[in-house]
Amino acid sequence: MAEDFAEALRALVEAESPSADLGAVEECGDLLADLGERITGAPPERLASEDGPSSLVWRNGPPDAPGRVLLLGHRDTVWPLGTIAERPFRVDGGRALGPGAFDMKAGLLVGLYAMAAVGRRVPVTFLVTGDEEVGSAASRALIEREALAAQAVLVLEGAADGGAFKRARKGWSIYTLQCRGRAAHAGLEPHKGRNALVRMAELVAESVLLNAPEDGLTVTPTMASAGRTVNTVPDRAELHLDVRVGTAADQQRVDTRIRTFAGAAGGVDVRVEGGPNRPPMEESAATALLSRTAEHAAALGLRPPESAAVGGISDANICAALGVPTLDGFGAVGGGPHAAHEWVDLHATRQRVPLVVALVTGLAERPLTGP
Ligand SMILES: [Zn+2]
Repeated sequence: MAEDFAEALRALVEAESPSADLGAVEECGDLLADLGERITGAPPERLASEDGPSSLVWRNGPPDAPGRVLLLGHRDTVWPLGTIAERPFRVDGGRALGPGAFDMKAGLLVGLYAMAAVGRRVPVTFLVTGDEEVGSAASRALIEREALAAQAVLVLEGAADGGAFKRARKGWSIYTLQCRGRAAHAGLEPHKGRNALVRMAELVAESVLLNAPEDGLTVTPTMASAGRTVNTVPDRAELHLDVRVGTAADQQRVDTRIRTFAGAAGGVDVRVEGGPNRPPMEESAATALLSRTAEHAAALGLRPPESAAVGGISDANICAALGVPTLDGFGAVGGGPHAAHEWVDLHATRQRVPLVVALVTGLAERPLTGP
């Protein structure tokens, strides 16, 4: 598998697939379908979407078999077309480099080789979407359906540092506060104005008071704009807030609080837009899977798995929020997601394959929650 793996990774990385370029994401899907058929011996189902790229699904085992495990990945990347010309795929001392290699084309190969190695009768689904990097709007319903049909979800995103699994991910909310006051000449009759910028500044101060970094809760004003000319009381101002939370309860509480910013004060009217985008993936969703992973890693003679709580979001958040046991980081071992130096440790990444196979097989024989 060693050479095949690197060559297959080269093909996948060279099929550039920025989320914004639907045609390119579909072409990468064509290549993945062919590659996957060669590796697993079966073509995928290709599920079209009206408002985004298609998804690919490989399925082993009888469709209605209990104890199904979902392997989840995405083929879109954050890299624009042409990046491959600047940073061609290469292998250097056991590391593979190239745009999207770590996030997460190497993970897609872990999925395909695992599907090939696991018994045909073992109930496992491998779903590959094409819009994760832009929020999974087009694939979300499908992800939820497949997750709810599964006893557990293994997400094939790249691992945290040193190959650690991701046992918790923060939730994310985004808000836009629209402030509307009244314009007036700042010299002739400033008292007739209602200053939207001053109201916005008050809201900046109020919002940062919600910060509780010790609880993993951050509220960050990220962008702001106000005013039309240097000598006019501004009648409008716009403020963007980025909110990261560790628990669903915090996400709800902050949402309620930010919504109280709406309404009129001092002659300025405030409208709150936005809200929770991804729920947090709380640690409890990963605990049982993490101990199973440790069991199988020991049996395979692999290093005991480490795990990390991370700030970034992935489709693992969607699955965990449904209450389905979910563990992330089964894909590439390496580093540098969304960075020009992203790299994949080929040997350590290939070792994910027998681990995923053992987990899936073990879960089929001994489900997490008995009947
Ligand atoms: Zn990713």
